[in-house]
Amino acid sequence: MTEFNRLTLCCSIILCCLSGPVVAQQLVREPAKKRWIIDPHTHFKGAEQIEWEARTTKRHPKNTLGHVITPEDYRSVADRLGIQSTVVVEAVEQDTPQFNDWLLEQAESDLISGYVARGNLLSPEFAANYERYKSSGYLRGFRFRQAELRGYLDHETARQHLQYLERDGMVVDLLVSSDHAESVMTLAREFPELTIVIDHCFGARLVGGKVSPGWTKAVNDCSEFPNVHCKLSSILNFSDAAPFGQPASVDLETYQPILETCFRAFGEDRVMFATNWAVCTHYGQVDDVVSIVTEFLKSKGEQALHKGMRENALRVFQIREEHLRPRENK
Ligand SMILES: [Zn+2]
Repeated sequence: MTEFNRLTLCCSIILCCLSGPVVAQQLVREPAKKRWIIDPHTHFKGAEQIEWEARTTKRHPKNTLGHVITPEDYRSVADRLGIQSTVVVEAVEQDTPQFNDWLLEQAESDLISGYVARGNLLSPEFAANYERYKSSGYLRGFRFRQAELRGYLDHETARQHLQYLERDGMVVDLLVSSDHAESVMTLAREFPELTIVIDHCFGARLVGGKVSPGWTKAVNDCSEFPNVHCKLSSILNFSDAAPFGQPASVDLETYQPILETCFRAFGEDRVMFATNWAVCTHYGQVDDVVSIVTEFLKSKGEQALHKGMRENALRVFQIREEHLRPRENK
């Protein structure tokens, strides 16, 4: 035994004897927190993109979509909340494919297991960009926003590109409101093998604690199609709280009308949790976004919890095992 080890042992024994079992207990390390959640909706942006957008877009100073955010900024969030990995979703304007490339470069981070890109299905350049993104091994699909989908469904080039996505098992992620339910159903019907994911519970909004009949109908109608899935994401955005003001309610009860409707319609195999970090912080703490949906899914049973927080995202986004960091903290 070295002099140093002997001294350490002596000190430990003295400390134990003097302070009794309380100190001994404190010396035991906390068990490693298991990373088990998959978060299929986060946004990162580089300095070049922020600079480019600032020329044309004026944002609230606290709007995180106007900030440089890299995977390393997310590490403490992921570690604290038991998130193993994230699929990043585009926050990229059309005709700026260089920012999709930047995001795919970020996938070198052990925190990222996929990217849902921005693309214009009407563009003759779509196919070349698609092939380049795909060659990274991290492309998991494309996101379309609001009324874009309507235009694509009527256009032959866009339909050809949708067929490529369907053929390759890519996800079409949709940032749409319940007003776009008809387009979602047409897409689901006409491309039955295409995997479709609706973001943020169809942009649900609580007014006086209630959801609208139109929203409920949209959720129910779209859930009839087995290739449509629903992200239980960015939950704090659904309250009537304004961004950057008073934080939104953190009680599960507040969000129950939304979560219950989506869960009943889509079932435990077609709902998936996501944070929408850092945009969700405009309304409160990301920790509450995780805990509210966890509590809700737990009320539906251990299996629903595991599927909703992890397994469904792994399956729907076809996340590769080798792109996941180890589940245990070292
Ligand atoms: Zn988002």
